[in-house]
Amino acid sequence: MPAAERSIIHVDMDAFYAAVEQLDRPELRGKAVIVGGLGPRGVVSTCSYEARRYGVCSAMPTVQARRLCPDGIYLVPRPARYQELSEQVFDVFHEVTPEVEGLSLDEAFLDVSASLRLLGPVEDIGRRIKQSIHERTGLIASVGMGPNKLLAKLASEISKPDGFLHIRASEAALRLAPLPVGRLWTVGKVTEQALHRIGVRTIGELAACDPARLRQALGRQAAMLQALARGEDERAVEPVQAEQSIGAEHTFDVDVDQRVMAESWLLRQCERVAARARARELRGTTVTVKLREPPFVTYTRQAPLQAPSASASEIYEVARRLLYLWWQTQSRPRLRLLGVSLSGFGKRAQEDMFAVGAKGAATDQVQDGINRRFGTGSLVRAGILRTRKQD
Ligand SMILES: [Mg+2]
Repeated sequence: MPAAERSIIHVDMDAFYAAVEQLDRPELRGKAVIVGGLGPRGVVSTCSYEARRYGVCSAMPTVQARRLCPDGIYLVPRPARYQELSEQVFDVFHEVTPEVEGLSLDEAFLDVSASLRLLGPVEDIGRRIKQSIHERTGLIASVGMGPNKLLAKLASEISKPDGFLHIRASEAALRLAPLPVGRLWTVGKVTEQALHRIGVRTIGELAACDPARLRQALGRQAAMLQALARGEDERAVEPVQAEQSIGAEHTFDVDVDQRVMAESWLLRQCERVAARARARELRGTTVTVKLREPPFVTYTRQAPLQAPSASASEIYEVARRLLYLWWQTQSRPRLRLLGVSLSGFGKRAQEDMFAVGAKGAATDQVQDGINRRFGTGSLVRAGILRTRKQD
């Protein structure tokens, strides 16, 4: 047994791209939705559970999917929209712990060992994540919990869709034993075949296999695989180290042609960006504003902050000036999309983030606290309320 038992959570959104399409277009709900490349060489990215019933799965050529499910609804991916929802999902993660290892837009490991004292047992944290994601995005996440990455991931996988399962160390062997070796994390096709050749078909058989025999078949990875088969996994959750930039953007349903409205949205984006920077203990030195004029002409404008910052008001001050300067140069300014990002992260913000005198820091601090407690968006600056109607 490891000295201190860890609590790891694995979160994986159910059929993410397809679920987003069904969210945005209610008429697609309950239907076979396939998102992927639609050309002759296209491949399925994600498909709804309704489509899976026809045998369609991700990474399958779209041509083949069309044969299996000719009445399915085939859509091209909308990466910007998935990114937007992914950020909301990751915001939920960062409210629980800074120890977040993102695996993709819709999947992450969280080490919540240090959060238990404040937030309660791992199941409470897992449920809170699942609920917050659903409340804020309308999407369903599967949540797996366990003493390590292996078991947390297995828990979300076997309970999905709409999964919620905690596998304790004591149940690990029982849960793992009957599964085919190919299901064990890190076992690829080649390893699987090598195991089959020596008669090892289940994870239980792998755990019980003679170590010398296993080493002969698999070489150096034998011991590691056998430990995994016993449910032992010491790998740490590794938060992404060097973040390049933190951004938020919004595509408007109706083009925005009033500057005051654009500013409201901009302030809202600045708050999101600043909150995420603070959650990661980062301060940026550069503010970039992204402006898209309909249909697809995109401008970016960049300016430095006076000092490294994660303060919404300081970021907004610069962003607003950039917006203003762009607005002045346009004969008929209109925006389809508006975004802001913070970059140039030099050093950790931790040491002086709440330093006395940092303008707006007190407001940000109170806001973070309230949003952590009641959900992002509970407390926003008054200027943002204007944008609420459009949500
Ligand atoms: Mg997923």
